[in-house]
Amino acid sequence: MQNQRKRIVAANWKMNTTLQEGLSLLRALLAHPWAISTGCSCVLLPPFTHLFPLAEALKDGVYALGAQNCAHERAGAWTGEVSVRMLADLGVQYVLVGHSERRQHFGEDDGRVQQKIQRVQEENLVPMVCCGEPLAVRQAGTQVSFVERQILSALAVLDAKKPFVVAYEPIWAIGTGQTASADEAQSMHQSIRSLLQSQMGAAVAQRTSILYGGSVKADNITSLMAQSDIDGALVGGASLDAAAFVAIAKAVAC
Ligand code: PEP
Repeated sequence: MQNQRKRIVAANWKMNTTLQEGLSLLRALLAHPWAISTGCSCVLLPPFTHLFPLAEALKDGVYALGAQNCAHERAGAWTGEVSVRMLADLGVQYVLVGHSERRQHFGEDDGRVQQKIQRVQEENLVPMVCCGEPLAVRQAGTQVSFVERQILSALAVLDAKKPFVVAYEPIWAIGTGQTASADEAQSMHQSIRSLLQSQMGAAVAQRTSILYGGSVKADNITSLMAQSDIDGALVGGASLDAAAFVAIAKAVAC
């Protein structure tokens, strides 16, 4: 029997598409009618510049809106930043926090990730907390303790009474075409859920969705979703192709 956790499929467009291209992609997505199951959420994470027009276009639709990042402070002299309050004002529901590209290229450490989680939850948005090990760590066989450290840091500030999502994305699988095997992914998801259970209790562990990300495609999603602790997918490259993303979303939803 399927568990009661919400299934989630999220499209991380990263820094791709002009506004017109993004709207075309949205039209192509909406042109694929499909009956989404009530237990599945489909989230679009476009660039900041697209959030307002997409929010208008998505009203009452199948897709929820998410942001790829947010400021670590609430407001003030932080030139170039976008606060969670601004995102909430547009109808954004989810925010990616701690994506490996932010950690690697923008120096976001666990402390900064903690601040962002707090900002997101205080505005009652849902943080999608990303974790995942680099290739060298996987090769050394220390991936579980590496990811546990990231998760423990996040759990130190997460409010368990409010919803949150975890996304496990091994860095060596992001954008490389090399996905983790279903067994490798399940094994890490199980460790993350055990950690949630020991730190926050069984109820939180059982209701928290843990997504897999890293070269998810239509041809590998079914075996990933067959794993008991994989509750959905965070999709980068394949989410820029409407037909491919809808195929993945259907596999997550069923
Ligand atoms: C991502 O960056 O979140 C991601 C999963 O990318 P890709 O699907 O392209 O590996």
